[in-house]
Amino acid sequence: MESSDNDLKSPSIESQPTVPLFIERWLKKAESAVGAITILLGIAGFGVGLLFGNYVTGLVGAFITFGIVGALEVHHIQTKVRLLQRLKERNDRNALFNGIRKTRGSLPKIISEFEHDGVCFRSVGLEDVPLPLTMAGPLCPKCNGVLAQRSTVQFPGIIRITFLCRCGFAKPSSLTRAELIAEAEQIANLPK
Ligand SMILES: [Zn+2]
Repeated sequence: MESSDNDLKSPSIESQPTVPLFIERWLKKAESAVGAITILLGIAGFGVGLLFGNYVTGLVGAFITFGIVGALEVHHIQTKVRLLQRLKERNDRNALFNGIRKTRGSLPKIISEFEHDGVCFRSVGLEDVPLPLTMAGPLCPKCNGVLAQRSTVQFPGIIRITFLCRCGFAKPSSLTRAELIAEAEQIANLPK
C-alpha cells in the first residue's frame, strides 16, 4: 500500500486540495484572527458536511460554521472588553470622605439605609455634618456583610454578574458593582 504524508482518507478528486492541507492553511491564516474554538468548530462543520455529502458540502459546512462561530467569537471578545469598562469603579468619593473626616476629627454617621436591586446600601455622612457624603455597599441584606462581585462572560458574549456574601447569600445582577453604586448614589441624593 502506498503511503503518503497524510493518512487521512481525503476525497479522491485530484484537483481539490486535500483535507489536511486545507486545514493546515486555514489554521495558519485564521489563528491570528479568531480563536481555537472557531477553528475547531469549523473543522467539525467540515466533518459534518463531509458526512452528509461530499467535499463541497464539507467546505460549505465548514465555512458556514466558521462564519457563524467567528462572528459569535468576535461578539464574545467585544462583550468582554465592554464588561471591563463597566467594571471600572470610582474610588475618589470614599478617599475624599476619609480625608475630610480625618481633617475634621469627626466620626462617620449612617444617614440612610435602603435596599436597591435586592442588595443593601448605606449613605454615610459625619456626626457634625449629617448629610449623605459617601456610600457603603452593596451590602448583604441578610447579615450586612460587604458583598463581593463575581463577573464572567460565557460564550457567546453572555455576561453573568453575581454578588456573593460569606454567609452564603448570592444575588445575580444585570448591573456591575460600579453601576449599582452609581444608582444608589442617585437614590441617596449624594452630591455629584
Ligand atoms: Zn451575608
